[in-house]
Amino acid sequence: MFQPSPWRADFPAIAALQRQQQTYLDSAATTQKPQALLDAIAHYYSHGAANVHRAQHLPGAMATQAFEGSREKIAQWLNAPSPSQIIFTHGATSALNLLAYGLENEFRPGDEIAISALEHHANLLPWQQLAQRRGVKLVILPLTAGGMIDLDSAAALIGPRTRLLAVSQLSNVLGTWQPLDSLLAMARAQDALTVVDGAQGVVHGRHDVQQLDCDFYVFSSHKLYGPDGLGALYGSCRGLGRLQHWQFGGEMVHTADYHVASFHPAPLGFEAGTPPIASVIGLSASLDYLGGLDTKAVLAHEAALHRQLLRGLHDREGVRVVGDPQAALASFTVDGVHNADLAHLLTDQGIAVRAGHHCAMPLLKRLGLQGAIRVSLALYNDSDDLQRFFEALDKALEMLR
Ligand code: PMP
Repeated sequence: MFQPSPWRADFPAIAALQRQQQTYLDSAATTQKPQALLDAIAHYYSHGAANVHRAQHLPGAMATQAFEGSREKIAQWLNAPSPSQIIFTHGATSALNLLAYGLENEFRPGDEIAISALEHHANLLPWQQLAQRRGVKLVILPLTAGGMIDLDSAAALIGPRTRLLAVSQLSNVLGTWQPLDSLLAMARAQDALTVVDGAQGVVHGRHDVQQLDCDFYVFSSHKLYGPDGLGALYGSCRGLGRLQHWQFGGEMVHTADYHVASFHPAPLGFEAGTPPIASVIGLSASLDYLGGLDTKAVLAHEAALHRQLLRGLHDREGVRVVGDPQAALASFTVDGVHNADLAHLLTDQGIAVRAGHHCAMPLLKRLGLQGAIRVSLALYNDSDDLQRFFEALDKALEMLR
């Protein structure tokens, strides 16, 4: 049965892609943007750009108001207690690097940082490098066969030496929601800091950082239908209180002399230099747009498409879905077929999907895979997109087998 997307027309790029015979199924990498975002950025640039916080003049005041308004909107989106707990970064990756440098003094040799076996490189490498700098042990929490962090193993591995736990909310390879409530409770019981990589999770449904009770939550704007070059870091009061300043320059300074300086607290103290102002304003428009949608209807639409995707993959001989995806995406391999060859033939037919290691090389290695094809969904996709994907897949497999 045809499953239309009532929101498709709000995304001009989808029609443009369709005119180029492209079916976009790579939204876990980045999303297309609503018209509301394009309008907001065009309005900002066509009505007078100005730097934020520093200027006395009217354009500066207007830009600052819009910029700080966006911070407030993000705080509301995540149900953060205060906008001052939202730090703008350049993306989830830069937020995680900020944490790995800003928390460096928390660690002594022999301490442990726990992450899971499924983490994106962005939530692995900053901790791996910190562990090397400080003589800290990086503990890898294993997974269940379905692709969830295994809670029994986690209970055995998270202990008094654990100073920090950093885990994904929704896996970008496996499409599995992680059991954050239980995991974070284990870390809290050891008084360890907790970091949630919400890069994928934030896109699907609404999430409440107070309910999660994490110390830090990071996401990238471009995956949440917002502009690129922008991300956000939420910090609890306890977490922010432990964070040392990391990058230095304009905006973050309270007073400066040649040999000494003092710095603002969060958020400005962690936003050195001119921030991506237009992107911040654009994200605000995207959140307004998303906030006006019926979240339940969006989730139901995405769930129906996800079921169609899984059914289609499971129905095809030799196709192996990786893990047991619960939402938004599915990765798969095909017996006897190299994923790069298959990806090539899909690309030739205008199907935009991802192939490779999905920035999670250790996970793919652990699963014994050289790579996998990932199909990922967004609210603007419809069942015809999947139909076109499956037709292209069948044709490609016919050629390859
Ligand atoms: N974590 C996860 C789970 C991701 O999927 C991604 C992006 N693929 C990131 C972190 C990093 O996001 P960005 O590249 O926008 O910084």
